[in-house]
Amino acid sequence: MIETKGYAVKGQDSDFEVFNFERRDLGPQDILIDIQYAGICHSDIHQARNEWKNSIYPMVPGHEIVGRVTKVGSGVTKFKTGDIAGVGCFVDSCRKCDPCKQGFEQCCTVHCAFTYNGTEMDESTPTYGGYSTNIVVDEDYALQIASDENLAGVAPLLCAGITTYSPIRRFKVGPGQKVGVIGLGGLGHMAVKFAASMGANVTVFSTSPSKEADAKALGADDFVVTKDPANLKALTSAYDFIIDTVSAPHDLNMYLALLKLNGSMVLVGVPEDPAAVSAFSLISNNRILAGSGIGGIPETQEMLDYCAEHGIFSDVEVITMDRVPEAYERTIKSDVRYRFVIDMQSFSDQ
Ligand code: NAP
Ligand code: ZN
Ligand code: ZN
Repeated sequence: MIETKGYAVKGQDSDFEVFNFERRDLGPQDILIDIQYAGICHSDIHQARNEWKNSIYPMVPGHEIVGRVTKVGSGVTKFKTGDIAGVGCFVDSCRKCDPCKQGFEQCCTVHCAFTYNGTEMDESTPTYGGYSTNIVVDEDYALQIASDENLAGVAPLLCAGITTYSPIRRFKVGPGQKVGVIGLGGLGHMAVKFAASMGANVTVFSTSPSKEADAKALGADDFVVTKDPANLKALTSAYDFIIDTVSAPHDLNMYLALLKLNGSMVLVGVPEDPAAVSAFSLISNNRILAGSGIGGIPETQEMLDYCAEHGIFSDVEVITMDRVPEAYERTIKSDVRYRFVIDMQSFSDQ
């Protein structure tokens, strides 16, 4: 077994503490990754605090993982020692069902082994995530990262990146379209970068007036403060596509009204309580309301390659492990520019 040091919560009201555990020995298809950076996704906060009512403890969160491959199993062909590899939100799936065969492993109809707060394919061995010194993963569920440039800025691509890239591709965002991004946080700032890089005209809808200059620097054309709904009135029926990244309860109808004929709004944010949607919000203009969950391995690799080609990274604030609790509080207050990332080297050395 492989000794690992992690940072865990042992219950929904518990504080984080150092948690030593073991990873499995490498099987023929496995690689061992020495984790260098792990991003803090708002989903980590929801799950550490059992806001989705499905938490398994002890929990080592973290599904935005980047590090160096230090060992490979005898049958591994895609990685070699010294390569940079990434791990996102899941570490295995059945590989045989229709979604798996189509490259949507996150929708596996048998079992998707989430990177943490989940179980391996035996549906009993708990999985532990990236707030830890190393991870063992099947090579088919690891992502290739060609360069070691700005790895802290690459880590959040493994969740925030793919979660926004995937629906932006699915709804064919491109030049000549008006795109709205609701919430300028970890996911939102990536959505702005992707939509702008694909040639769309981008508006950020935000509750934080102080983020306006950043939004423009990230590639947005317009910035609308949503605390006063009157600011949205003039934009009725103006948008082709809106991506909603908000982590807390909010009114969806107010944003659906902004979609033009056949326009689509995709929910990626996951507030703990359901939202009320008026049928009128959808039947007017034949609007579409959709959802999107992370992305499969092939599309995640495509997104990483797209980012490498276009020089796209996440904007990050790198912290040491002991500052995770503070980072959670600041993320909840929308006080992060725009992703906290844990430097694992300092944690390993402690
Ligand atoms: P984040 O960094 O905290 O960003 C969320 C943003 O939402 C905030 O920066 C803030 O932007 C806005 N916001 C926060 N509270 C609000 C409120 N009460 N009313 C209106 N706006 C508010 O979180 P994240 O990591 O980007 O994650 C966002 C959500 O996506 C979370 O619920 C997370 O669990 C979910 N998620 C889903 C998937 C998926 O597969 N679908 C994947 C990853 C994450 P402003 O300051 O600009 O208003
Ligand atoms: Zn995430
Ligand atoms: Zn499957």
